[in-house]
Amino acid sequence: MSDPPKGLDVEAVRRDFPILSRVINDKPLVYLDSAATSQKPSRVIDALADFYRTSNANVHRGIYTLSEESTLAYETAREKTAAFINAASSAEIVFTRNTTESLNLIAYSWGRANLGAGDEVLVTAMEHHSNIVPWQIVCQERGAVLRFIPVTDEGFLDLSAIESLITERTKIVAFTHVSNVLGTINPVREIVERAHGAGAVAVVDGAQGAPHGAVDVRALDADFYVFSSHKMLGPTGVGVLYGKASLLNEMPPFLGGGEMIMEVREDGFTWKDPPWKFEAGTPNFADVVAFGAAIDYLSDLGMDNVRQHEMDITGYALQRLATLGDGVAVHGPPDAADRGGVVSFAVESVHPHDIAQTLDWEGVQIRAGHHCAQPLMRRLGTPATARASFYVYNTNEDVDRLVDALKKAGELFGRQRS
Ligand code: PLP
Repeated sequence: MSDPPKGLDVEAVRRDFPILSRVINDKPLVYLDSAATSQKPSRVIDALADFYRTSNANVHRGIYTLSEESTLAYETAREKTAAFINAASSAEIVFTRNTTESLNLIAYSWGRANLGAGDEVLVTAMEHHSNIVPWQIVCQERGAVLRFIPVTDEGFLDLSAIESLITERTKIVAFTHVSNVLGTINPVREIVERAHGAGAVAVVDGAQGAPHGAVDVRALDADFYVFSSHKMLGPTGVGVLYGKASLLNEMPPFLGGGEMIMEVREDGFTWKDPPWKFEAGTPNFADVVAFGAAIDYLSDLGMDNVRQHEMDITGYALQRLATLGDGVAVHGPPDAADRGGVVSFAVESVHPHDIAQTLDWEGVQIRAGHHCAQPLMRRLGTPATARASFYVYNTNEDVDRLVDALKKAGELFGRQRS
């Protein structure tokens, strides 16, 4: 493969996304909710349509040409995914529905098999509910204890607390690569090392990590690393579970049924090797093939370019939001170098839902709510935040439109208060 270009040609990127020509409430669309789900380039939309038009047949079953082609396309996407995160082998890539299902798979399969009464699972206070609730369920079932690494006032993990929180009873340390609320980029390698030092496995929630920068699971030494296609230009309905081969080999299956078995007898069954052991039933092969096109697209842009672009635009957003004065407070690390492309903020005396609604009138689409991170909301002392999140197709002009719309919202609500 040729080297990716230096820097991102954002105007060229924008032309690849048909939805960006939409008009919302008589204004050109400004899409600032990519942390929830990203938009899709024509290359991905076409890959999905082309697959259905030309190659559709169930995978792994047929001994006819179309099914062989379909199987090859599905397994090629698995190889692309493995290469994208530098996994040692495509056998370490399990396709699920989303990040949430990947985390549940680990909790139900590895967690149930390895957690006992009094054992501990360590998560952080900045997790998405997807990386809390599965552990709560399995801890409750096994009599294990769930603990939380606290978050500092600046929005970093309080790593000094890890010393006392990791004990010889800790079996799992599960944490997010990048916070979907604060944008904080966590020191994955360091936390993985500490987990391993205590003999625990390290589970990394990469939902906001893999889409936004180069990930090397072997350099990170993560035991599990999970993410979702729909947040990285791919279709909905595809999740990735990377697991070290040694762990996937020893784990029991999560779901039973067709495809995952070697042999079924009246008195029992044997299962296939990973990854197929964990892919019961007909997989979402058409979307997986289109996910492969998303990986190609991102790889052609170059993940270092993607990261640099987001850091630049986030820096610009932090700077522009600061011009709005004390009435607007940004949550999370002050420096864009410590953040992914996510900026959560509060506007004094205006509920985040009202902000999102008034911004919508200006065509600016942002998220408002608890962002599936209620323990973090409690830590921040608020039930909800407004959140703008950026991706490859966003520009400084989008940030200007956000800030202009916020000024209008401020004037509107200021008038209502007086
Ligand atoms: N983890 C993080 C950090 C997220 O931001 C999200 C989604 O916003 C998830 C997990 C869940 O992803 P999905 O809904 O694709 O399962």
